Amino acid sequence: MRYVVVDLEATCWENVRIPGRNEIIEIGAVELLSSQGPPSREFARFVRPVAEPELSDFCTRLTSIRQKDVDSADLFGSVFFDFVDWVGDEPFILCSWGAYDLNQFRVDCARHGIPLPPAFERHVNLKTAFASAFGVKSCGMARALEYTGLAMRGTHHRGIDDARNIAALAMLFLPSLEAAGLVPAEKV
Ligand code: AMP
Ligand code: MG
Repeated sequence: MRYVVVDLEATCWENVRIPGRNEIIEIGAVELLSSQGPPSREFARFVRPVAEPELSDFCTRLTSIRQKDVDSADLFGSVFFDFVDWVGDEPFILCSWGAYDLNQFRVDCARHGIPLPPAFERHVNLKTAFASAFGVKSCGMARALEYTGLAMRGTHHRGIDDARNIAALAMLFLPSLEAAGLVPAEKV
């Protein structure tokens, strides 16, 4: 089975969590042609937010994404169209660390009046899958890397770097998940 590991960055504010306020500012993704990998293709694009176009200092500190990165980026509709095109028509399972990324896609698709492709609902939450595969409490990506002895590569909280690190983690346990029949079946 083919896997698309995605990690999104979004506008954010320190100690502020208001559902629906955050907007995607980066889509990072890595394709694995099988559960063992290796990574075959990557997608990395910034997105220009529309509701609150100015990034908070906190957001830039957290993600390292600068105002000029998003000012020169395309809007969500265009980048998401390119992402769906990049994903392609062959069956795949979307993977991300937690439930956040799939939900953020739903939020931004709704904001821009774009239907979320039904194939995106075939999703593995790698955070919960990692916890059950390794018999540990559910934890963040950085902790999971430490636990497994994998080095964190790139800049934490950059979508493409997070996606690469999450893909490295996924390759450790997706094969056993697949062998146990625990990956979601194609929706008919
Ligand atoms: P991550 O994939 O962990 O880099 O997080 C994805 C997005 O979640 C970030 O781009 C932020 O919008 C938000 N986020 C992550 N950590 C925090 C935090 N400590 N405070 C506020 N928002 C956060
Ligand atoms: Mg991230």
